[in-house]
Amino acid sequence: MAQQSMRGMRLGSESFESSKGVNLSPRNKYNYRCAKDHLTEIVFSDEAEVPNSWACKACSLEAALLDAEGNQAFATEIPKAPRTHFEMLLERRSREELEEILTERLDELKARRKRGQADATNN
Ligand SMILES: [Zn+2]
Repeated sequence: MAQQSMRGMRLGSESFESSKGVNLSPRNKYNYRCAKDHLTEIVFSDEAEVPNSWACKACSLEAALLDAEGNQAFATEIPKAPRTHFEMLLERRSREELEEILTERLDELKARRKRGQADATNN
């Protein structure tokens, strides 16, 4: 049993030795930017074919490869950031309208709370 594991060790150390003195291939950093302006830095070896787009590390939207100046390197169409519920709400109503509705609802809630039924009914 002991001999077998020793043999295993020797095999392992052999493969370590073979990787000694092997130079890592040159690497380059590439930046990708998504529609939300997040930057994702990816390192590729010189031999690798650098993809035009990559999944953003922050939001996982598709991010486009940037050139050295920080401009989009290719005319890749990257998907727009999905709108939040709040943004969609703002498309339907102005901020003033929303303020008005909020005040209305709060007054209603206060009145209901006074009557002691705030938790009894929803809306
Ligand atoms: Zn992102």
